[in-house]
Amino acid sequence: MNSSRVIIVGGGISGLSAGIALSGRDIPVLVLDQKPALGGRAASFRDATTGDIVDNGQHVLIAGYSHTLNFLRRIGTLEKLSIQPSLSILFHHPEKGFRRLTLPRLPPPIHLLFGILSCRLWSFRDRLLLLRGGASLLRSELKMNKKLRGMTITQWLEDVAQHEELQRTFWNPLAIAIMNERPSVASAGTFAASLRKAFLSSRMSASIALPTTDLSELYVQHAAEFIMMRGGEIRSNADVDHVQVEETKVTGVYLRSDELIRSRAVILAVPPHKLRPLLPAGIPFDPTIFSWSPIVSVHLWFEGDFMKDDFVGIIGRTTQWLFNKSKINREGRKGGHVSAIISAAHDVVDLTNEEILAIVLADIRSVYPQTMDPAHSLVIREKRATYSSNPIVDQQRPGHKTSIENLYLAGDWTATGFPATIESAVISGERCAAEIV
Ligand SMILES: Cc1cc2nc3c(=O)[nH]c(=O)nc-3n(C[C@H](O)[C@H](O)[C@H](O)COP(=O)(O)OP(=O)(O)OC[C@H]3O[C@@H](n4cnc5c(N)ncnc54)[C@H](O)[C@@H]3O)c2cc1C
Repeated sequence: MNSSRVIIVGGGISGLSAGIALSGRDIPVLVLDQKPALGGRAASFRDATTGDIVDNGQHVLIAGYSHTLNFLRRIGTLEKLSIQPSLSILFHHPEKGFRRLTLPRLPPPIHLLFGILSCRLWSFRDRLLLLRGGASLLRSELKMNKKLRGMTITQWLEDVAQHEELQRTFWNPLAIAIMNERPSVASAGTFAASLRKAFLSSRMSASIALPTTDLSELYVQHAAEFIMMRGGEIRSNADVDHVQVEETKVTGVYLRSDELIRSRAVILAVPPHKLRPLLPAGIPFDPTIFSWSPIVSVHLWFEGDFMKDDFVGIIGRTTQWLFNKSKINREGRKGGHVSAIISAAHDVVDLTNEEILAIVLADIRSVYPQTMDPAHSLVIREKRATYSSNPIVDQQRPGHKTSIENLYLAGDWTATGFPATIESAVISGERCAAEIV
């Protein structure tokens, strides 16, 4: 038994992030995951019909996710991200058609000023209104932060005179994409933190970064290799039952098979609904404060290729984004592979596959009227895609230390200050590792 190593329970992005950070400091780790494959909610699998490796959902990053980019740099997969030189998003408006928002290569926040002022999605008066709203959100004074933390995004938007059309055509698509929750529910404070990171960090930080390969290759395989090459170990199908406490310290974990594995510290990198049974009874944690927000993704394979752009944001319909997987992943196939995304999919997730497909196809045809029926499709429901943000729960996210000095918590839902994203997961793992180091 190697009791000098650190056990990480959960091989999702937060657990792998902790593993990379500790292995990089020559601290051996053992990563345990209950599933046959690592990656957690960032997962890939083979589609039986086409033989393609597909993701459980399109994962979008921005260049300002510095911790995630650094994670990828360390494991050697950063070049598998395609990063825009500056933010450029093609939208499709139901009445106005295609309109593009592009930020010029100028320092922040001047780039935002010029980008918004030159975008023909809105009237000139509305562009000025948008800037007014944006300025109030990006202001970082403490008083403002405190106010935002108690508000939903919609409450804040109304507070700063962002009328319904501006909400529908700009703020809501942005908020749902970042927060995976309806703006009428999600916390304005967490949204603001994300926007500051995107629009104030650097000229490029808002640029969209898309994986050109599957999630497993981007995040998981090379991270596992990194850990093992530095003396670490990975065990899948290892279902942890609870942590073992002796006197005031954690001394290891018990698997469901009754095996005891000893360690000098334990990081629990599992989602909130899996945490309570693992935690020692004396540690207060109420999982019921966390509810979930779903994401529905539909992969569609077509005989022909109708999308020229990498992705398009669809305003005012159920489907919010279309990603041109053939182009982004350079699949080199004849025909097209498109991934349609519905975030905060509360109203859709319980529909049948046929119903979801019909909605998505109607939305695609409202943008690209020539779209034929797909040759093949795959509907993926992630009912627990991310925790559901709201102003109350966002102030109750637990930190990374616990009342037991060598027991730590990681996960996108912990108190990183950012929405439940890959970046939040990576930060949480790094924070646990920093405590241990
Ligand atoms: C469809 C979809 C689309 C998304 N899109 C984006 C996006 O565009 N951009 C973005 O930044 N983020 C996105 N996300 C969110 C992102 O995937 C998550 O924030 C991130 O993967 C969470 O990682 P995690 O390590 O915190 O948790 P998880 O991935 O949930 O990892 C937890 C791990 O713990 C394991 N585990 C649980 N219990 C036990 C136990 N008892 N014993 C052993 N192992 C256990 C689980 O098997 C799992 O592997 C998306 C998520 C989904 C589902």
